[in-house]
Amino acid sequence: MPLRRASTDGTPVVTLTSGGQAARLAWGTDVGVRPSVTEKSRKLTSQLVFAGYGISDPALGIDEFKGLDVKGKTVVVLGGTPAGLDTEVAAHLGSVKPQMAARAGAVGLIEIGQSARGSRIGQYARGSAVDWVDAQGQAGSNPQGLRFRMALSDDAAARLFTGTPRTLAQVRAEAAKAGARPAGFPLTGTIGLDATSRWEDFTSPEVLGMIPGSDPTLAAEYVLLMSHLDHLGVKKDAKPGEDAIYNGALDNAAGVATMLEAAREFTTSGKRPRRSVLFIAHTAEELGLLGASYWAAHPTVPIAQVAAAVDLDMPMPLYQFTEVVAFGAPHNTVARTVAAAASTMGLKVGVDPFPEQSIFVRSDHYPLAKRGVPAILMFTGYGANGKPYWDKFFADRYHQVGDDLSQAILWDAAARYAELNYRISRRLADDPQRPRWYADSYFGKAFAPQQAKATR
Ligand SMILES: [Zn+2]
Repeated sequence: MPLRRASTDGTPVVTLTSGGQAARLAWGTDVGVRPSVTEKSRKLTSQLVFAGYGISDPALGIDEFKGLDVKGKTVVVLGGTPAGLDTEVAAHLGSVKPQMAARAGAVGLIEIGQSARGSRIGQYARGSAVDWVDAQGQAGSNPQGLRFRMALSDDAAARLFTGTPRTLAQVRAEAAKAGARPAGFPLTGTIGLDATSRWEDFTSPEVLGMIPGSDPTLAAEYVLLMSHLDHLGVKKDAKPGEDAIYNGALDNAAGVATMLEAAREFTTSGKRPRRSVLFIAHTAEELGLLGASYWAAHPTVPIAQVAAAVDLDMPMPLYQFTEVVAFGAPHNTVARTVAAAASTMGLKVGVDPFPEQSIFVRSDHYPLAKRGVPAILMFTGYGANGKPYWDKFFADRYHQVGDDLSQAILWDAAARYAELNYRISRRLADDPQRPRWYADSYFGKAFAPQQAKATR
């Protein structure tokens, strides 16, 4: 897949005109603009519109752009989401604000922090942006039409509201009330941007293998078993003699190995699956689910024919697990198959052990779900004895060079996990009924509005 790393070239000029006064904002302290993977040189001035949280979502019945003239303008929105939303829904909405702004016709997006904290100024001003960009110039996270994403200091953000009926402080006070969504209104000023991005293009392989189905009809449908093959590369600030390689033994060599074992078991079973089974080791997950996002946008089989997707990320074979967790279980019936397969091995299906992390939108199954595929992410659950192992892993090994084979891996636990995932995939492939989203799931409504739904 084609990837591009964009970084800012030189010091961009950002000019805020408010109350008839034009002022250049200080780069890196008052303003940061995300480098562009689609436009090397950006030079534009646009009018500004405040649009609440910038949420436009038919499944929720919310359209904060309604009644506002947004076309060709820059929308100014509050960061985050209204208080009281489900954490997974909130995480999803927070991640698709550029797409919602672009759909409304905006050319720019300014996200201001809900409070004085949490600005992306430094990240935008000094960091780089990595994304896939295809031959047509379409990019993964940068929707067509939206030319920039900008972060402002509190001071600069407050000036956007000069000459309007409400101050930023008043808007924030209203937003702080539970469930409140401050109504949008036009702002009086303009924002000017003159910025150049530097590009580095590279590629990385998505690795796919397929076992064709045996059923004359069902073979045209696909069960997707996937994992990610990338990790974090080499540690740049390692001291001489120090281990500098991010091996990613559990995150996610263990997931790839589990997937390959399931594939091997299909072939040695002597019985072909009825549906076709597609195995994908995605790349660039750690860079923002880029491999899965690219595949979901350029699927190698018709996306509507993908019956289910099961993602394997970071199995934890450090203890004898008694429970597995399917992230996404509340949303589609794939988890019923997980429960049925698990019960044949005396395993329970547990609930999400860390709901505050919004895992459903943080791994490779999410881009597939966004295309309407009933998708889940498998984890080895806490059960009675797993929590200390997870806590210790997150504290000492996760995204560190120590995620390597020095960990006390229980190979029989790993083998049981592989067997479970074979049984799950086998059932998904052989079941006459394909999985469905639940009728009352927000994600079913948002991602698969036309599909037939399941009841609980
Ligand atoms: Zn991972």
